[in-house]
Amino acid sequence: MLRAGIVGLPNVGKSTLFNALVANAKAEAANFPFCTIEPNVGVVAVPDERLAVLAAISQSAQVVPTRVEFVDIAGLVKGASKGEGLGNQFLANIREVDAIVHVVRCFEDDDIVHVAGRVDPVEDMAVINLELALADLAQIEKRIERTRKAARSQKDAQIELAALEKLLMILNEGKPARLCVLTPEEDAAVRFLGLLTRKPMIYAANVAEQDLATGNDWSAAVQAVAQAEGAEVVIVSAQVESELVDLPEEDRQDYLDSLGVSEGGLRSLIRATYKLLGLQTFFTTGPKETRAWTVPMGAKAPQAAGVIHSDFERGFIRAETISYDDLVACQSMSVAKEKGLIRSEGKDYVVQEGDVMLFRFNV
Ligand code: GDP
Repeated sequence: MLRAGIVGLPNVGKSTLFNALVANAKAEAANFPFCTIEPNVGVVAVPDERLAVLAAISQSAQVVPTRVEFVDIAGLVKGASKGEGLGNQFLANIREVDAIVHVVRCFEDDDIVHVAGRVDPVEDMAVINLELALADLAQIEKRIERTRKAARSQKDAQIELAALEKLLMILNEGKPARLCVLTPEEDAAVRFLGLLTRKPMIYAANVAEQDLATGNDWSAAVQAVAQAEGAEVVIVSAQVESELVDLPEEDRQDYLDSLGVSEGGLRSLIRATYKLLGLQTFFTTGPKETRAWTVPMGAKAPQAAGVIHSDFERGFIRAETISYDDLVACQSMSVAKEKGLIRSEGKDYVVQEGDVMLFRFNV
């Protein structure tokens, strides 16, 4: 399963957010075996209102959401790339994730110390991004000498060297490596480095409850910087989310109404992270269950079958496929069939977001 790492300076609300994510997963997903692999790793249900709609059509006995993993990576501080404050260890943890959720503090609270003594999310973003970039630079510089020598005789090394030089240039301009345009071969040649600033990143602007509906000047500043980097921003309130967890179900809506919002930002954050990871959802539905499954964007039908069971992939014959919208418009599989909306797709079919699929296979 792909993993997103939650990073940010101390006291910005990372753990509060992570705990809310995990608590929600436990509450929402009574139907799938919840597991906490390590204390800082949570398997989180991906909220999807289409599940209930499909379950109503199929009269499913149960609904099973798909999942995504979050890791709380605490402890990143200024100087981390030089090994300060267990820095290298945390950077190594980030190297293992597939995408980064960068939490920035956009709330004022005199009781909660800010590491730099003032709330300044744009500066905070720069501090973290600089540490990540310095770690990447150190890694590239270490690698490039060796590659230069090898490039005299080896074609593979020449490709890697070209990639490293382009990356070095971008990083030296103070930009993240993800903005570096590489050919697919170059990209493949440097993937093993796990460059931190080449991982997809999203910003979570953590605002106070009264700012959740509108955002505030800090979150607007975060948005401006993110836009220049081509990154997305989700406005969340870790505080609201942690309060929601503690409220009885029947009081939650009132609380959200009083803030003028429909959610605390967590659902948006999960969905945005899922997209950031390059993931998409297809469904299976029937009287037993309606279930969401995850495949990488661009996956073909047999790969989707394999997510359910390896036998389905091995013996794949075809996938009876209908789009979510078509099925909802018909309100039943039999009507959809009469209208000819159920397609029989073969092994080269590229799965589309929201496909409802039934696999035919040989055992
Ligand atoms: P971390 O170090 O980034 O993991 O930060 P924590 O999640 O431990 O939060 C640090 C402190 O800030 C805790 O006391 C939280 O309760 C508090 N906190 C987190 N988010 C908010 C928020 O949105 N508003 C306010 N006022 N406090 C928050």
